[in-house]
Amino acid sequence: AIMPTLLSGIANGARQGILFKNGAQLEKIGKVQAIAFDKTGTLTTGQVQVSQVIANSNYSQKNVLKIAAALESNSEHPIAQAIIQAAGDLGGMRGIEVQAIPGQGITGIVNNQQVIVGNVAFVQQYVSQLPEELKDLVASLEREGKTVVWVAQESNKNEYEIVGAIAIADILRPEAASTIARLRQMGIAEIIMITGDNQRTADSFAQAVGIERVYAELLPEDKLDVIRSLQKQYQTVAMVGDGINDAPALAQASVGIAMGITGSDVALETADIVLMADKLEKIVAAIKLGRRSQAIVK
Ligand code: ADP
Ligand code: MG
Repeated sequence: AIMPTLLSGIANGARQGILFKNGAQLEKIGKVQAIAFDKTGTLTTGQVQVSQVIANSNYSQKNVLKIAAALESNSEHPIAQAIIQAAGDLGGMRGIEVQAIPGQGITGIVNNQQVIVGNVAFVQQYVSQLPEELKDLVASLEREGKTVVWVAQESNKNEYEIVGAIAIADILRPEAASTIARLRQMGIAEIIMITGDNQRTADSFAQAVGIERVYAELLPEDKLDVIRSLQKQYQTVAMVGDGINDAPALAQASVGIAMGITGSDVALETADIVLMADKLEKIVAAIKLGRRSQAIVK
């Protein structure tokens, strides 16, 4: 049976915008030793905007945006929203047979041609050679913390060419760095970042937020593996995330924590704790509530 102290802890959490799905999770969060944070939509606001559009020769920036947007209208990813907004009116152009691949990108048919939008690993499954001039430009944008997605389309049967690349700017949540610092002060032994984004972009945000261990370019299953390996070292591991791509890791973690507003349905369903107003500092409050409930139970 659930202890009255746990119930009051849960009620206390609810008043602060922390939703505990059950009492066991309140106790567990009090024991947390390691926390893995997703980047996009978790440490950052996920309210991303297109900042640069790079067109390959033979294409215009408008082309790049519209081709990508025709596919992205089918995705709930923050990147998709940014591209759709920047593209404006598509004049009825839309993607069909669209398939979103979590952590990688999206593909489908636009104007009778197969189109690919996504990270470098994903487009390289279709295009063997990326144009050198574009590669250098993209790398420098990534070092500034921009997320860059490549756009490719089928030119001949089974031959793909790069249409361009779209840089997307995201910002850290205002409370991210102070929350990380506070968690360290509270004795959390390990704080890491796990992201599907590329290493350069991830490093830029990690440095800004004060996280040293960064695992980038991860697929959803890779995120799960990182949690598993942390669990070999630490008994209680929390994962904080928002996306479909975080769901396996949220499920694997001793305590899964989801962002209530930016969080996708799958993330919310999988998590044990939901931060109703997306305020990262509520993790500090949740741990305090958890620690207090243990103190009372003992
Ligand atoms: P994160 O782990 O930072 O939340 P994701 O795992 O959702 O990021 O995505 C990882 C990468 O996969 C993105 O940075 C992007 O390059 C690519 N990607 C994922 N979904 C899409 C999409 N709908 N459109 C374009 N690119 C995408
Ligand atoms: Mg995310």
